[in-house]
Amino acid sequence: MVNVLVTGSSRGIGKGIVDKLRSYKNFFVICVSRSVSCYENGLLSESEGVGANAISFCADVSSFKFCKMLAKKVLHKYTVDVLINNAGITKDNLILRMTQHEWDEVIRVNLSSCFFMIKSFISSMLKKRSGKIINVSSVVALLGNAGQGNYCAAKAGILGLTKSLVKEVSSRNITINCVLPGFIETRMTSLLPKLIKDKFLNLIPLKRFGTVGDVSNLITYCCLPESNYINGHCFTIDGGLSCY
Ligand code: NAD
Repeated sequence: MVNVLVTGSSRGIGKGIVDKLRSYKNFFVICVSRSVSCYENGLLSESEGVGANAISFCADVSSFKFCKMLAKKVLHKYTVDVLINNAGITKDNLILRMTQHEWDEVIRVNLSSCFFMIKSFISSMLKKRSGKIINVSSVVALLGNAGQGNYCAAKAGILGLTKSLVKEVSSRNITINCVLPGFIETRMTSLLPKLIKDKFLNLIPLKRFGTVGDVSNLITYCCLPESNYINGHCFTIDGGLSCY
């Protein structure tokens, strides 16, 4: 059995990853979300979670304290073979108008959370000399995006964190990779004005937005033994958007 911990698992890409992994018999999924109410509309009830190859935990991953508490609780009972840092938020604004709060919050939830979760779980992986970490970044880490300076900086930071960690822990049979989705249809993107959506659609060579399924298929592959030699890689999954 391969135990996979997924942050931000209550909806969107995170929920897609959980659903896909649960369709395989050899994965046990440790779902992490910010609050119990995140599970209200259907991912897991406690009993279903315990009984059916998944369990859910609550933690705000933007707090180092909560990440450490989560690790203590999870590792008391389970090993974590794959850590997927997926939780993320946007607080868009032009740099000229962006408040320090909007900057700090987005850096904390998108970037610092990866550091906090890795710090909290890496020792257990080092001890058993195996593990995989998959960080969810974004294609805008490579391209930049007006109105998303905080988000682009956080997502670009994940790339540097990933590549540095590869050089620190790969000798212990731990791999770290990044997935960079383009425009994927989730609640995060549903809030964008139609004008912006149309602009993106025009720039995507495949002429469609990505689905949660597109991303969760790739991430599931990264969890399988077939991907064991892939290390330090940044997978764009964007319908060709980053070709421009
Ligand atoms: P979403 O808003 O639908 O889901 C985000 C998830 O993160 C939710 O479950 C939310 O509860 C959780 N979360 C937010 N803050 C948290 C915190 N402090 N602690 C714990 N959980 C927290 O977004 P999504 O589109 O599914 O995005 C998932 C990831 O993919 C994010 O990292 C996002 O930046 C990235 N991404 C999304 C797109 C896209 O087009 N949707 C594109 C590129 C990258």
